[in-house]
Amino acid sequence: MIPLVDLTAQYHSIKKEIDSAVLSTLESGHFILGPKVTKFEEDIASLLNLDFAVGLASGTDALVLALRALDIGAGDEVIIPAYTFFATAGTVMSVGAKPVMVDIDPQTYQIDVNKIEVAITSKTKAIIPVHLYGHPAEMNPILEIARKHNLKVIEDNAQGFGAEYLGKKTGSFGDIGCLSFFPTKNLGAFGDGGMVVTNDSKLAERMRMLRTHGWKKKYYSEEVGYNSRLDAIQAAILQAKLPHLDSWNDKRRELAKRYNEHLASLDIVTPLEKEWAKHVYHLYIIRSEKRDALQKFLKEKGIASEVYYPIPPHLSEPCKKFGYKEGDFPFAEQASQETLALPLYPELTEGQQDEVIGAVKAFVG
Ligand SMILES: *Cc1c(COP(=O)(O)O)cnc(C)c1O
Repeated sequence: MIPLVDLTAQYHSIKKEIDSAVLSTLESGHFILGPKVTKFEEDIASLLNLDFAVGLASGTDALVLALRALDIGAGDEVIIPAYTFFATAGTVMSVGAKPVMVDIDPQTYQIDVNKIEVAITSKTKAIIPVHLYGHPAEMNPILEIARKHNLKVIEDNAQGFGAEYLGKKTGSFGDIGCLSFFPTKNLGAFGDGGMVVTNDSKLAERMRMLRTHGWKKKYYSEEVGYNSRLDAIQAAILQAKLPHLDSWNDKRRELAKRYNEHLASLDIVTPLEKEWAKHVYHLYIIRSEKRDALQKFLKEKGIASEVYYPIPPHLSEPCKKFGYKEGDFPFAEQASQETLALPLYPELTEGQQDEVIGAVKAFVG
């Protein structure tokens, strides 16, 4: 069986480092926030060339706290891509605002920057580009539109950690960048974790308060906040993994290139890396009109694959109330019907990859 990702393989490749990080945390007696989290926050901020990072309980919370810190709520609209993980839409709704979808560019799967301006109304407060699959969104046009219309930019960088747009790291462009350390993400914890990053000291302070019940001073809530903190044990694990991130992302890129070399000539669509992009292949996504049959065929051959995502947010149950309907965002809908993720993770061997390639070739013919 070839899995989509193999988290155990990664653990075994750096077992000593992880074990010692975990054991030292157990001995430290500090389990929530504390020095290990502070150190990890500093390292992530400096890696992104930003001043502040705030460790949180998940990437979903990162989006929620970013929205809250920017005072986005009831009556506001937030522009998001029509194809993304539901959390991008769900978090906007959870603070009481309306997600306004914009279709994707079918080549890159990123928000189509040419369709953003027509979606802006007097209620629009922010744009959330998502660096979907690990390919960067086209940030310069997005930032220009945001400046022109006085909108905030929150980057959903859950899938793009390490990716670059014109040589600069994703997550470092917007007012706030949001990271997820969900185990399967390019930098994954052994549980949930997330982070917000920013250059704005006021926003950083606000998000620090929001993660602990709105406290500036202990027990004195200044607003209604959350319990959303990064565990020390996760920070220690992530810290141990961080030095490997670049080489893991390089490995993902090599494997993606190898997939492309073997699959590009077939009757399927292989992923594209724009000339302004450094893609980190959180997911290796192909597209086929016979997607479901291909997935079934691969499964019979013992090869896992997955659909990210079978339903675009605008057609989801919670978004029904906004009156979106089928046909509103054709490229997002096409992606939901045709995209398929093939096994790709840094520890995937060439032999395993050859098996996947052989199976796809056998199906497509
Ligand atoms: C994973 C993910 C999130 C949410 O992160 P969690 O840590 O799982 O809460 C948000 N947006 C996108 C695009 C994601 O892939």
